[in-house]
Amino acid sequence: MKLFGSNGVRGVANEEFTLELASSLAASAGNLMGKEIGVGRDGRTTSPMFRDAIVSALLSIGCNVHDFGLVTTPGLQFMVREKGLNGGVMITASHNPPQFNGVKMIYHDGVEVPKPLEAEIEALVAKGGPPRCEWNEVGSVYHHDYIDTYTDSVISHVDIEAIKKAGLSVALDLGNGAAVFTAPVVASKLGCKLYTINSEIDGSFPGRGSEPTPDNLVDLKELIKATGSDLGIGYDGDGDRSIIIDENSNAVWGDKSLSLVAQEFMKTHPGETLVTAISSSPSIEKVVAKYGGKVHWTKVGSVLVSRAMVENGYRIGGEENGGIMYGPHLEVRDGSMVLALMLHYIATRKRPLSELIAEQPNLFKDKDKTPCPNHLKEEVLERLVTKVDAPEISTMDGVKLVYGDGSWILFRPSGTEPIFRLYAESVSEERVRELIDSHKAIVKEVVDELSAA
Ligand code: MG
Repeated sequence: MKLFGSNGVRGVANEEFTLELASSLAASAGNLMGKEIGVGRDGRTTSPMFRDAIVSALLSIGCNVHDFGLVTTPGLQFMVREKGLNGGVMITASHNPPQFNGVKMIYHDGVEVPKPLEAEIEALVAKGGPPRCEWNEVGSVYHHDYIDTYTDSVISHVDIEAIKKAGLSVALDLGNGAAVFTAPVVASKLGCKLYTINSEIDGSFPGRGSEPTPDNLVDLKELIKATGSDLGIGYDGDGDRSIIIDENSNAVWGDKSLSLVAQEFMKTHPGETLVTAISSSPSIEKVVAKYGGKVHWTKVGSVLVSRAMVENGYRIGGEENGGIMYGPHLEVRDGSMVLALMLHYIATRKRPLSELIAEQPNLFKDKDKTPCPNHLKEEVLERLVTKVDAPEISTMDGVKLVYGDGSWILFRPSGTEPIFRLYAESVSEERVRELIDSHKAIVKEVVDELSAA
């Protein structure tokens, strides 16, 4: 039984993602990972309920629980590695709508568990979970604070004095999520003047929903204008993903922020390898090649990028959706680390963010999505391959069509939602739109055909 999507297990709380499932998943993961397990939760309405089920399940098999309370996913990931725990269970549905919840399983190295271990956890859940322990062998619960340990590590990777001296202002849209506890602390420790919105935990995500996008951060853009801030960042519900807005209130697309991070990292670490997924712009290869660096391409999914970094010892990675993995801190997406890095670049290069971004390759890219029921995804993909044509077709992940003029389009089923995602890049905005519209129509047609059958 497949429970894990591209990042953890998610579903509508008490319907698809039940207490029984959460309990069985936690007991199985604890059984396979070891005795000392970290637990954290995001600010969702149902997260305390799932926390209690998960803690009980872990205790019942003899695990000791290290409870970090309300925490971002990267915060828990860091603490699992920092404290030398055997693993962690993060209760979150990331950027999904408020009715969802789920878990992300963390391995002892701080990164989400490897795919083979996911499969072992699923198999154990299918068998009814591990045996419970004797009454006198149940585990204990320990509560830990994490904010200072975690934020001190984040800022240890940047030039604290230079940032303080630059006297920067930062505007943050915390999205009513777990980043409330970390990102403002990072900004304050770096001596920034701080402005925040949606800065109270609220599981109904009343501000702008739990998923930040370049288009929905309208209030953040206004806040930057009103305060003259040097940088704005919007966070998702569990604080791993972040969308950057420059001092002119323009959204910085993920490919460009990744390109900036890659450029600055390679300057001081020439010849290293950057890891990213095939949905990212190929222009990143030119950026790193300038410093003798290479790109290691993976299938789409932050866990696959993180795991490729750990397995090969690569220290920098990212995704086109705003995820940056800064290995010297931890090989996972971390929105607070992104905040510190952007402040570091602005302060040490002594130039506004918009100018640093303007140095990056200019490209037109867009993405879109179209509904597709989960059970039809594979069949849709098979039929799609027969309906499209291009000089170069890659099926490493979904279907990627590459044309002679450097344009490309990728369509692939989402691992977390009942949709197909489309990504396209080209030399002009019009050509990108045309690529997306025409292929979206093909996907829709195939979905309709198969739904009717
Ligand atoms: Mg997330």
